[in-house]
Amino acid sequence: VHPEKDVDGLGTVNLGKIAQDDDSGFVCCTPAGIMELLARADVPLAGKHVVVLGRSLLVGKPVALLALQKHAGANATVTVCHSRTRALPTTPRQADVPVAAGGRAEFVTADMVKPGAVVIDVGINRIADPTRKTGYRLTGDVDFKGVSQVAGKITPVPGGVGPMTVAMLMRNTLKAARLAGR
Ligand code: NAP
Repeated sequence: VHPEKDVDGLGTVNLGKIAQDDDSGFVCCTPAGIMELLARADVPLAGKHVVVLGRSLLVGKPVALLALQKHAGANATVTVCHSRTRALPTTPRQADVPVAAGGRAEFVTADMVKPGAVVIDVGINRIADPTRKTGYRLTGDVDFKGVSQVAGKITPVPGGVGPMTVAMLMRNTLKAARLAGR
């Protein structure tokens, strides 16, 4: 996809721009949605410890890079965890802002979260639920019931990051149309 049409922001050029603190391109939608959500909820990241659970190109790496940028709204100290991280579950507990993007249903439990933390749940997982007509329900990577007892703020699933992803895709699409002179 030509970089000027890459509204998902997942091509090499647009992902590379994030690493260069260059906001002239298209920022990939889920990470951009997380940053927008934090800004609109008045959660400044400067000097805060963001711990990202997951290192995918779709979510983990770009959100870590965005939080690390030398830009207003960013300037966080960032730790990235993945399946080979030894210091789990203690590392997320150090986070002012844990970002759960491991793709494991309700993996993040209350004991892994610092009291007052701003918890971002990126996960979308289907788990069996015989009480539903569909036979399943959607849940995040965070145990919402337990974690909401200790968190200062927390994003729900469904809701939260999912609709922000869609909004950012629309924003990028509009930007692409304007770039094309439409
Ligand atoms: P992915 O490509 O499967 O990556 C998952 C990451 O989590 C990997 O880096 C993996 O480590 C790590 N991980 C998996 N199990 C772990 C464990 N037990 N302990 C520590 N780290 C672990 O997934 P993704 O595409 O980033 O998506 C993550 C979640 O977000 C999924 O639930 C997906 O459905 C959801 N999602 C939501 C949106 C939205 O709009 N809300 C958008 C995209 C994705 P390794 O790298 O070592 O394998």
